[in-house]
Amino acid sequence: MEKFCNIVRSTATILRKIVRYLAGLEWTEKKQDVCRFCDHQNFQKIVYQDDHTIAFENARLAGQLHWLLIPVEHVRDVEALTGEHVHLLERLEDVKTLLLERYCPDVSPSVIHSGYHRGRRPLVGSLFWPDIVSIHHLHLHVIVETQWYMKLFKYPAWLPLMWKSDEQVMREAQMKHKKASSSQANFKID
Ligand SMILES: [Zn+2]
Ligand SMILES: [Zn+2]
Repeated sequence: MEKFCNIVRSTATILRKIVRYLAGLEWTEKKQDVCRFCDHQNFQKIVYQDDHTIAFENARLAGQLHWLLIPVEHVRDVEALTGEHVHLLERLEDVKTLLLERYCPDVSPSVIHSGYHRGRRPLVGSLFWPDIVSIHHLHLHVIVETQWYMKLFKYPAWLPLMWKSDEQVMREAQMKHKKASSSQANFKID
């Protein structure tokens, strides 16, 4: 009987934890009026900077090396990208290549993990998929030799609900760009 009570009690504790976790997620928009990534004084270890792109070391490293690459232009997250952003994404890719060449030229591509956390998407009505992006300013994660548990839970390439590789994000933006320019061409003919 005591064993049964213990099982019930621990199940209740786990359920309570799950409910609390779900309730704590951002189901509705939490507006960030001041963007921490638009204020460049917030970056401590900048590894690259030009007029369009900034790269800096992430505060918590998920691997041997871990950079965040951001466009200077404010874009909320990957969901907000259109065909117009192809150049912006290309510049991020260029900086990624440059950093990898500069800091770890001999490392195998298989140990490089890069991509974006998914952003704000509608779920039902006024509810959105819970926001897992802590700072609402597009940032590309580039991680070298990622710790396995970080790759499993925090930067999960296997979970499209949470993560998109930079290659895929680029492909989608290029497709949107193609569509937009072909519909523009049609418009001109009409
Ligand atoms: Zn911003
Ligand atoms: Zn992120």
